[in-house]
Amino acid sequence: MHEFDLIQRFFKTNADSDASVLVGIGDDSALLDIKPHRSIVVATDSMVENVHFSAITPIDAIAHKLVVSNISDIIASGATPKWATLSLTLPSVDESWLTLFSHTLYAQLKKYGVSLVGGDTTSGKQIHLCMTIIGECQLSQYISRGGAKAGDVICLCGHVGDSTLGLAIEQYCQQNPSFIEDASNPAALHTLLHRFYYPEVSIELGHLLTTYASAMIDVSDGLLQDLDHIIKSSEQASHSLLGFELDFNTNIMSDEFIQAGSSLLKNNGLYESHQNLSQFEAAALTSGEEYVLCMTLSPHQWQLLQKEYGHTLEERGNLMFLIGKITHDGRYVVNGQTISVGDFSGYKHFG
Ligand code: ADP
Ligand code: MG
Repeated sequence: MHEFDLIQRFFKTNADSDASVLVGIGDDSALLDIKPHRSIVVATDSMVENVHFSAITPIDAIAHKLVVSNISDIIASGATPKWATLSLTLPSVDESWLTLFSHTLYAQLKKYGVSLVGGDTTSGKQIHLCMTIIGECQLSQYISRGGAKAGDVICLCGHVGDSTLGLAIEQYCQQNPSFIEDASNPAALHTLLHRFYYPEVSIELGHLLTTYASAMIDVSDGLLQDLDHIIKSSEQASHSLLGFELDFNTNIMSDEFIQAGSSLLKNNGLYESHQNLSQFEAAALTSGEEYVLCMTLSPHQWQLLQKEYGHTLEERGNLMFLIGKITHDGRYVVNGQTISVGDFSGYKHFG
């Protein structure tokens, strides 16, 4: 199948009812109409075969994550995702792969109200997927990583750790396809693997938090690493030394994580205990691809958020954990002990 037939067959526009797409797929470029007094927000994420997914990763999970990982960045900026482009490198034209991939991709884009407006298609040795999402927001809504101040509290909007266990389960399943069924707690393992494959994010939550947050990030490299990103950006913006103190307990981990963690981590060798942190805690704090929001905000804004939306958030099932505060002494302290982020092995692409 020719490149142009492939695009025609699998990547037709879903922008027919989107009045903001003046020219979509099929021309040299897309022409997008942006509302007055809005700023453009852009995020890109790539997924590479054998790095971000394996031979046993379901095709729909690959498409799902490609969309969600991008949208998560737009949400963490307080913005609204609107348009997407997709660059595809494929070793061959596998029609059943493309059918499932494109169906899931469009379903996810539709769910978040995003129109596919262009892309590029090439052949290459490995599957390489790159999506760019363009969003919009009012300038005053944009939340960067760089607004944290000493005295701010740190709030985590969901559990961390499940994704690391999901990856471990996938690796075990690669060695032994009946790993889950053979385990003593298959239901928990299924749940963890499902969360790893099909993460969910909420545009409404991002919008709501922009009013209160001083800095925000989605946990994609691991909580400690991502807090380090907030500290570094905020130090640069404020020209002052910053640090953090985390005080957390197991409530930041899901029930399934607590149930299945020790047996999954024990033989994995990936996560050792660190200083005063258990293997459990170290795994949760360095688990990437979680796509939960982490924000800093002043204690006053935290109280306001509780008062104005505490009930609504609880009803919607949005979790909010106060896990610590921003300090001005340049140290990173976790449950009473000074740590260095470099001691923890979150996933880093070039070692
Ligand atoms: P050009 O050669 O001008 O770059 P192409 O022939 O590569 O254009 O692509 C034709 C049209 O199809 C363009 O509008 C491009 O944005 C779109 N397109 C190509 N690949 C994809 C894809 N994987 N997904 C969505 N749109 C695509
Ligand atoms: Mg091209």
